[in-house]
Order: sequence, then C-alpha cells, then structure tokens
Amino acid sequence: MKAIRKFTVRAVLPEPLVALEELAGNLRWSWHEPTRQLFEQIAPELWRSIGTDPVALLGAVDPARLDELARDQDYVNAANAMRDDLRDYLEQPRWYQSLEGEKPAAIAYFSPEFGIAAALPQYSGGLGILAGDHLKSASDLGVPLVGVGLFYRAGYFAQSISPDGWQMESYPLLDPDGLPLSVLRRADGSAVQVSLALPDGRTLHARVWQALVGRIRLLMLDADIPENPDDLRLVTDRLYGGGGEHRLLQELLLGIGGARAVKLWSELKGYPEPEVFHTNEGHAGFLGLERISSLIGEGLSFQEALQVARAGTVFTTHTPVGAGIDRFDRGLVRRYFGTDLLPGVNVDDLLALGAETYAGGSPDVFNMAIMGLRLGQHANGVSTLHGEVSRKMFSGLWPGFDPSDVPIGSITNGVHAPTWTDPALLALAQNRLGAADTSTADWNSPAVTDEDLWSVRGQMRLQFVEDARRRLLAAWQEQNPGGIAPAWINGVFDPKVLTIGFARRVPTYKRLTLMLHDPERLRALLLHPTRPIQIVIAGKSHPADEEGKRLIQKIVQFAATPELRQRIAFLPDYNIAMAQLMYPGTDVWLNNPLRPLEACGTSGMKAALNGVLNLSILDGWWPEYYDGKNGWAIPSADAAGDSAERDRMESEALYDLIEHHVAPRFYERDADEVPTRWVASIRHTLATLSPELSADRMVREYVQKLYRPAGHYENLLSTNNFRAARELAAWKGRIFAAWHGVAVTHVESGGVSAVPEVGDDLHLRAHVQLNGLLPGDVTVEVVYGRSTSGDDLSETNTQALQPEMENPADDATGSADGGVPTLFTGTVELDRAGAFGYTVRVVPRNDLLISPAEMGLVAVAS
Ligand SMILES: *Cc1c(COP(=O)(O)O)cnc(C)c1O
Repeated sequence: MKAIRKFTVRAVLPEPLVALEELAGNLRWSWHEPTRQLFEQIAPELWRSIGTDPVALLGAVDPARLDELARDQDYVNAANAMRDDLRDYLEQPRWYQSLEGEKPAAIAYFSPEFGIAAALPQYSGGLGILAGDHLKSASDLGVPLVGVGLFYRAGYFAQSISPDGWQMESYPLLDPDGLPLSVLRRADGSAVQVSLALPDGRTLHARVWQALVGRIRLLMLDADIPENPDDLRLVTDRLYGGGGEHRLLQELLLGIGGARAVKLWSELKGYPEPEVFHTNEGHAGFLGLERISSLIGEGLSFQEALQVARAGTVFTTHTPVGAGIDRFDRGLVRRYFGTDLLPGVNVDDLLALGAETYAGGSPDVFNMAIMGLRLGQHANGVSTLHGEVSRKMFSGLWPGFDPSDVPIGSITNGVHAPTWTDPALLALAQNRLGAADTSTADWNSPAVTDEDLWSVRGQMRLQFVEDARRRLLAAWQEQNPGGIAPAWINGVFDPKVLTIGFARRVPTYKRLTLMLHDPERLRALLLHPTRPIQIVIAGKSHPADEEGKRLIQKIVQFAATPELRQRIAFLPDYNIAMAQLMYPGTDVWLNNPLRPLEACGTSGMKAALNGVLNLSILDGWWPEYYDGKNGWAIPSADAAGDSAERDRMESEALYDLIEHHVAPRFYERDADEVPTRWVASIRHTLATLSPELSADRMVREYVQKLYRPAGHYENLLSTNNFRAARELAAWKGRIFAAWHGVAVTHVESGGVSAVPEVGDDLHLRAHVQLNGLLPGDVTVEVVYGRSTSGDDLSETNTQALQPEMENPADDATGSADGGVPTLFTGTVELDRAGAFGYTVRVVPRNDLLISPAEMGLVAVAS
C-alpha cells in the first residue's frame, strides 16, 4: 500500500502575534480554557471544524485574518498576557515544591500510549487517556515527571462504519511537523538518536520527539527515519497493530530505547536523571533490563543491579483480562536478547524474570506482567477492587501466602478535571460560586439555583446533540459522496429527552450489546410515550477482534430501524474530542461489564465531574464511590451458572432500573419543569465526587505511596557505591540457599481458660529450625483472626514472636548446625468473641524489603 506523504508548512506569524506560537507549542492549551478561547477567536468555525488544534489553525487560517488581529491591540494584549500566564505556570513553585523531606528529583513515566489531546492521536483508549491525565496533573502539581512513549505514524486507527454496519479501519498518516512536537537535538543542532542492536547484526535507530505538556516533557521515539531499512521504519507504524515480533520490537524500543533516551535527554538539558521509573502496564517493562545493564556497566553483578532497579521501579497493572497482557514466545525473546542489545546481561537470567513459574503457567512463554512484578518492588492496581483481584490473580508468584499478603496495592484512577469539565459548568462554579474550579465549589449553595444548574445541564445536552448530528451527517456524506443527506439525520436525538451514554472500547467483557438482550423491552423504553430515553453509543473494536466488530454491527443494525434511529445512534470514531462533548451531554452514564473484569473504568468519572449520574455494575471504581444518591448500581449476578443466564438477569435488572427508577426520576418535574430530585443528585455528585475523582488526588497518592518510597529505597541501595545493594544481594543469596531447611517444627500454646473468653491471653512457644540463618534474618510471627471456612482466616492480624536465648551459642554465631531449633515466644490477647484461628510462620526479614511476602518465601507450622 502506498500512502501519500504530506508535510505541513508552518505559518509565519505577524510579529505582534508571536506569543501565539509559544502558546500553541505547549499542550497546556488543551486544558486551559482561556487559551483555547484565544485561539477560537481567531476563526471560530475553523477552530471547531479542524478539531480544536492551534498548530493546524494557525496553518490554515487566512493570513489576512492574522494581519487584522495583529492590528487589534486588545487581541495582541490578551495574547501577550496569556503567554505571561503560561510562563508563570511553568516556573512558579507548586504542590510538589512545598513537600517537606526526601522526594525524588525526577521520575520517568513510561507508557505505550498517551492521550493528551485530539490533536495528538497517540492512544487507543483508557490506558492512554489515563497516561495523558497523569502527565497533566503532574504538571499542575509541579511533580518532576518526564513522560516516555513512542510516536506512531498512524496513531491507532480511524474508524468508519460500512453500510452493513461493519467497522472499517483506515490509517491516515500523521505529519509530526504539523503537530506540537520538536526533535530532540544536541547543542550543535544534530538530532539525538537512540540505537538498539538487533539479531543478525542489524540495528534499530530512532529519533526522539518532544512534546511540552505544561511543565512536563513527553519524549516519543520514532523509528520512521532514513537511517533504518524499510522494514524497521515500520516498527512505530501504528499502536497495537502487529503481533509477536512487531510488538516485541515496539516494546524493546519503548523500554530500552526509552530509558536510553531519558538518559540522553537529562544529560543534554542538565536535568537530574530519574531516580524512579514508573511503567504504566507491562508493555514498557524492558526499561528495567536496560537499567540493570547500565548498572552492570558500573561494576555490579546481575543480582546487585536487580536490587537497585527493583527498588526504584513502580509497576502499575491495568487489567485482569488475559488478552491485555503481553506474552511473547520465549524463543523469540531469547533470539532478541542473545545479541549485544544489553551488554553484561546473561540471557538466561533475563528469561527467568518473565517465566511463568506458577501452576498453570506455560514454559514456552515470556510474560511481561510477571516480569513487571519481578522488576518492580512497588506495584499497584487501579481501584480498590482491582487491587484485590490482582492480588488473587498473581498470587501464584507468592506461593504459601494468602492473597491479602501479596505485595500489590492499589491507587484508584482519577481524571484530569480541567480537561474533562465542560466550560459551561466551570463558568457556573467560577461566576456564581466564586470557586477556582468545580472541585472546590460549594454545590449546595443557594447561589446556584436548581433552575441555573438544570439550564446548564440542558445547554450541555443540546451542544452534544448538535455535535452528534454533525458527526452522523459527516459519516453519511462519506458513505454517499455527493448525495443529499436525508432530513431525519437532523432530528436525531431530542435535546429534552433523558440521554444515556455508553462509549468505550469493545472487548467482549464490556458487553456493548447487553442492552439488546431483550430488543422489545429496549424499544419500549426508547419509544415510551411520556418517559422516553435516548442512547448514544460509540467505541472502537481492535482491528483483529472480529467478535467486537460483530457487536458493533448488531448495535448499528438495531439503531438503523427507521422508528428508532432518532433515539439510538452509534457515532463512529470515538476519540477525545467526541468524548469531551459527549460526557457532559448525557444525563446517565452506563457501564455494564462482566464483574470484576473492569479494572477501573474512567469514562464514568469524567461523566460524574459534569454532574452526570452513573448507572453501573458495581465494578471498577463504582463500588468505592456509589452511595445510593449519586446514581444506581446494577446488581450483578456473579453467581449465575452460565454466562447467558447472567446476561439475562443483569439485562433485566438494567431495564427495570431504567423503567422504574431512572426515567421516572428524570421526568418528575416541578411547576417550572425542573426535576428537583434529579438536580439534588447532581449537586450531591458534584460536591462529593469532583475532588475524589480528580487526577490530582491520584497523582498525589502516587507521589506519597509509591514515588517517594521508591526514591527512598533506590537511594538507600545506591549510596556509597551501591554498598547496600551489594549487601542485600548477598543476603538474599544466603536466604534463598538456606530456606529449604527453614521450618516451624513445633508450636506449644497455653494460657487460655478451658472455655476461652475475650480477654484471655494465648501464650505461644514456637520452635523454629533456622538452617544456619540468624534469628535476625527472619521474622517468626503468629497470624491470627477469625476462622471462617476450612483453612481460611479472615480479618487477620500478625504479631511477631521474640527469640528466647535458649541456645546462646546458636544465636551468637549463627554457625550452629541447621538441626538446632530456636525458640520464639509471644502472647496474643483474644480480643474478639467468635471462631478464632491462628498459625505460626517464618518469613525473611530485612529493612530493605517492603513486605514480608516480597521474596515469596515462607515456612508455616504444619
Ligand atoms: C475515558 C476514555 C476512555 C476510557 O473509558 P473507560 O470507561 O475506561 O472504558 C476511552 N476512550 C476515550 C476517548 C476516553 O476519553
């Protein structure tokens, strides 16, 4: 296939307007409403049709219009003031600068996709948008982050729908010169290049694009350069395009090339090198190997280097769905690393990091998530429920421990409020409530009446309805070039009708078509004579996912029914620009995944920030925040025997909720046509959820719970020429070697009454065989709690037992033979009535471990 190569000629701005160039060159415009208005004023119609993109706007606008503005002193002053505001934003201390104590000087954040603005389409869905939101909030908070990703020449793909409802993909090429990007160069003007050694003596080269996201630099590696042969230029052709080898090449470039690029970038610019490396999902996990290789270059062994790399690495897992995890053929990985790619790293050591060593794992596979957990001492899921699910899912890596001990925490995602809050709602908070933003506004104040709030909601609904019609019209015209569009398109959706939104990627677990389970029932809801609903649907299916495309086709065909087509519509090419109008324009945001497969789900959060009520299965973020007043919970039938039965039960619950609760509440109006009870829920949602769901809250948590500890441990291990890292590696070696002989041989108990009562003391004496280890190398502890079913304990506590100097020679030297048991004792107070159970176990102990389970070693009393 031949693609047309395009290039963009950048506009030369009249001198009085140079401030616009600086403003267009920093993506802060994408979330800074006053800057957006400044660009919009240049040519409002063009601004909208071009997709709110300053660089494109300045390239396309009539130069005469620019000359006119250059003579308009008010406009020139406004542009200069805005540029000064940007400079202040970039330079002044913010939240991070006010933090006391040890904190990392720089953090590198790696992600395969970044969704920052529609103008930079380098994302497929939630993972990328989250990464974009993370950078933006890091910028707002002054966190010294640098983003690392790839630059995909065709982004993900553009979606259109054929007349028979089938998804069609196209891959229009992006021109980086037409985007707010610049090539990373040395002082002498030469472009920085990163190179990776490949099998058969080949080399992959990449240049580095930089984007400015407020205070944050985003580096994007691009293989489409003349130094590469044709096949390697395609390594960064598109996001999630190929399988196997192509995907591996992308991830090598992202992880290894990315780590090299950050290093070069900080050297060139004089920035501190990152102390903390955060990998957003496993795709970028090879970065840890590059760090190991470079530490080996500084004189460490593999094990020593591994300790340092682990200490400074944060791994976030984003999905409990197997298909979301990269698993490469082990032979392929061996071939790629059996080269000069990573000097000093033995390929077998490396392969061991990605081995599925647990029951049910495959010996032929290299698993990126497993490597992520082995290379990242700090790991998390993205909602409380997902943390729990992840601990269970990966518990095979920590055999002998309860899932609750698995060292994976959770930080619930958030969304970047300035990006995702409609300007009309923001204006209401600022003008009427005197708040800087919607999250600090007092939404219960009478300064905003029910009528005011309802009228802004109506405005947002209307704005969305108009956008939906434009999009449907454009799609029709693309399918029928030159034809006269049918009039009904202009009547799609009614700006007064209860509007339900459902937009997301289309993997099977998200159940796009659950609403079609009983088509008659859905029809009746859509066409209800007094309480009708309307539904907008959007989403892309992965190009290789035929099942997903069939689901889209079912929806499109249903929505094509003449009597329904003005009440339900599928909008092609879901993206940020569409989402920014769609979320605020709906009344209810629907989410009906198969619980618990939705790790978090952020679209409902973006909706809530705009006063939209959620109607969702209790999955992802919703169980944490649903409170009975901010929306509805669709009961899930997790226990239903088969999936068809489950779909039936859950879809019926959905119809019932809409029919008996949602629609009646929406159409219950006072004398002025205001649904006062509904508006009360909107106020409650805005007041309680806006602060909680914001990415600022999320990024603060990342800083406090993960980045600071990671920086701390990485520093501890690195100072004094890596002394602690060398000691830790040696200590772990000793522990691993001795562990097979560590055991709890015998536990004696006493102290409780014949009929145990609350307040009794349980005295424990545990005899432990240490096999040559010192008492200080281990923690002997009692784990106790409620004894529920079988061998399970719930609501557990642990308490360390103390060594008794029963055998002083043994304790003093640690050289006694492994057969001599050592005594550990302690007392537990029975503080609760009910079934009590306990067990005694031995785990390794070292101040540099963050969890007793970390090494996956435990000896439990039999
Ligand atoms: C927020 C967002 C998503 C992710 O939504 P989920 O609820 O996590 O599925 C996907 N695409 C776009 C364009 C978004 O804005």
